[in-house]
Amino acid sequence: MTIFQFMDTFRTEQDCIEYIKDLRLKQGITCKRCNEKTKHYWVKYNNKFQCSVCRSRTNIKSGTIMEKSKISIRVWLTAIHFISTIKKSFRYILL
Ligand SMILES: [Zn+2]
Repeated sequence: MTIFQFMDTFRTEQDCIEYIKDLRLKQGITCKRCNEKTKHYWVKYNNKFQCSVCRSRTNIKSGTIMEKSKISIRVWLTAIHFISTIKKSFRYILL
């Protein structure tokens, strides 16, 4: 993905939240209260996951590298994009 494609895909913080939400729902979320990988529902108004068993809510950043950070998800994704692009460039130079 080029930087231009990236900027078109992740135009707003909400675009980034939707992307992370879909990834995490696909991967599965472990409930901090149940301590099990249970089915979670998305609560859109506060951008949290809700456990279907105990109804405990989990922040979208919880359990990720972004957990303790106040930096927006968009900034995180941009940084991750640059790091992965640089890594690919190094691969092309080396091979
Ligand atoms: Zn639970």
